[in-house]
Amino acid sequence: MPGRIGVSEQEASVWRTATLTEIRRETPRVATFRFAVPGWPGHVPGQHLMLRLTAGDGYVAQRHYSIASAPDDSGHIELTLDHVDGGEVSGWFHTVARVGDRVELRGPLSGFFAWPGDRPALLIGAGSGVVPLMSMVRHHRARGLSLPLRMLVSARSPEDLIYARELGPETTAVFTRSAPPGVPVGRMTSAHLAPLLAEQPPGGWEAYVCGSNSFAEHASRLLVQAGQPVDRIRIERFG
Ligand SMILES: Cc1cc2nc3c(=O)[nH]c(=O)nc-3n(C[C@H](O)[C@H](O)[C@H](O)COP(=O)(O)OP(=O)(O)OC[C@H]3O[C@@H](n4cnc5c(N)ncnc54)[C@H](O)[C@@H]3O)c2cc1C
Repeated sequence: MPGRIGVSEQEASVWRTATLTEIRRETPRVATFRFAVPGWPGHVPGQHLMLRLTAGDGYVAQRHYSIASAPDDSGHIELTLDHVDGGEVSGWFHTVARVGDRVELRGPLSGFFAWPGDRPALLIGAGSGVVPLMSMVRHHRARGLSLPLRMLVSARSPEDLIYARELGPETTAVFTRSAPPGVPVGRMTSAHLAPLLAEQPPGGWEAYVCGSNSFAEHASRLLVQAGQPVDRIRIERFG
């Protein structure tokens, strides 16, 4: 579904050339790729785009990626990619791509998993599912919004926690394989959600869930069991 919020379908459907300007390592398997995108029409936190790579022989590969950066006027956007084993596109980014390389982007896409900063937001993600949620956190900070925003993220270990240096008191991390001393290891449970849902800000939470298919199902089930209305749960699946 093309742009919707703020951007016309026509603008969102144009392929634009993007030049890679910076590569930043986030974790051993994950890096952020910053692009200069002349003519980028802007986005709302939570939206994603379509990325197209074309090889010398004309072979084309397209994948969806969430936008990690907050909307701004810099003419740049950032994507954060997990290195999937044997992955064609993520493998190219992690092993071949260099500053100055060009790719094509089309978007922004999907108005549904978007948070313009207009309602209390409860963000729940696992692994690279934190990427669109981080765009929301960054937007909240950049605009100095006072609306409640909380994030619950699941990672395998502290070393695998994406954006660890940037996370603040709005974030609670859950570790599934190894954790810092004193922090329990295990899956996200209703006990992690209960204190957040108990806060119930005026108007209630809008919940945004992002990750693999199995994580999205697990987290949305926990939310419903804890009393979050189904029509106030928005889900983005990467799987
Ligand atoms: C809306 C949306 C937003 C997305 N945003 C992001 C994002 O911000 N960051 C990000 O890293 N990815 C994101 N993805 C996933 C991304 O689109 C690709 O699927 C991913 O990068 C793998 O592509 P590839 O070409 O490297 O692997 P492929 O060559 O397509 O796949 C290689 C192998 O890995 C398996 N595989 C494919 N994808 C995954 C996966 N995600 N996890 C585990 N195994 C997989 C395949 O079954 C296959 O066996 C998003 C997906 C969607 C639908």
